[in-house]
Amino acid sequence: MDQLAAISSGHLRIDLDAIGRNWSALDKISPGTLTGAVVKANGYGLGLEPVAKALAKAGAQFFFVANPEEGLVLRKALPNAHIFILGGLWPGASDLYAAQRMMPMLHSMAMLDEWLNFCVQRGEAYPAALNFDTGMNRLGFRMSDVNWVRQQMQRSGYQPQVIMSHLCCADQQNHEKNRTQLALFQSIMAHFPDTPASLANSAGLMANKANHFQLVRPGIALYGGRAIAGRKNPLTQVVSLEVPILQVRDGKTGETVGYGAEYTLQRDSRIAIISLGYADGFLRSASSSNSHQGARLAINGHLVPVLGKVSMDLVALDVTGFGHNGPVPGEMVEVLGPNVTIDDLADAAGTIGYEILTSLKGRYNRTYFGIELE
Ligand SMILES: *Cc1c(COP(=O)(O)O)cnc(C)c1O
Repeated sequence: MDQLAAISSGHLRIDLDAIGRNWSALDKISPGTLTGAVVKANGYGLGLEPVAKALAKAGAQFFFVANPEEGLVLRKALPNAHIFILGGLWPGASDLYAAQRMMPMLHSMAMLDEWLNFCVQRGEAYPAALNFDTGMNRLGFRMSDVNWVRQQMQRSGYQPQVIMSHLCCADQQNHEKNRTQLALFQSIMAHFPDTPASLANSAGLMANKANHFQLVRPGIALYGGRAIAGRKNPLTQVVSLEVPILQVRDGKTGETVGYGAEYTLQRDSRIAIISLGYADGFLRSASSSNSHQGARLAINGHLVPVLGKVSMDLVALDVTGFGHNGPVPGEMVEVLGPNVTIDDLADAAGTIGYEILTSLKGRYNRTYFGIELE
């Protein structure tokens, strides 16, 4: 380890083998279905290139990224991967997509027109996917466009690679939307009987076999996140983050801790100050006050609560419970790991594991382990 790494403010470890095993576990849940991998947002914050290589090594061949920039990085890393661009066709970018073998999700009449015109002009049917909106009101053709789209396909003779839609409530197993979106998607499939279909994200895949069809698109579950609320997460944790204690101090009953003086000590306390803050992606909403419990981190396997506001670079922890055997400066605190999952942190901060992962920043030393990357 070089000198800077040795004194860096923390260690983020990313277990690539665990990502591969999570992919294989999801692949087993959907036998006979192609299992893709969503690696948008820089591989959910964990690093697009290493993450994608680990997934390819496990067997993934179909990848989804958000935009063409991510597609280019992925193309460099995996020359043979099938790459879908979830955001669609950027106006004027057909050339780039074709040259780099990136497949846009076509979401609108304008995108479909642009793509088909490009294909005619080049005399080649470059592959793309059609995305239908079955209830999210985000991207995709509206249900009322389905006939028009089918006619366009018949007229042009163009055969889409896949038709897809996206579930908005798959994390809530009993939500009525899951049934209505599935039924609408099946009604669309009837218009494109020879085209492979894709509906399920992680939660959709884990919740119901009826969502599988020909291709599934897990994201968060690959990275160890909880896909379905209120259900035990069967997947393996992928990230751990440790940061050092800078100072351990005494605080007296009645004194306050941190900005805004929103936490008043209710007892004489030992307080550990750690090298971590919202500038590291440790969300400010993980702060505590006397009326609101914040996040809990871990020292030697024991959970320790955050005291007061999370600062830009510092967090205070209540280590009174350790008594005389308390932690000392230089000792590492587990921010994420075996005792604190991304979902524990997300629940405490009023958000979701996705945001915890994609908030991870660059001030700590990142190491990848588990598989050899060329
Ligand atoms: C992000 C995304 C996914 C993956 O969702 P997870 O909940 O992370 O599994 C799948 N499909 C689309 C269209 C997405 O945008």
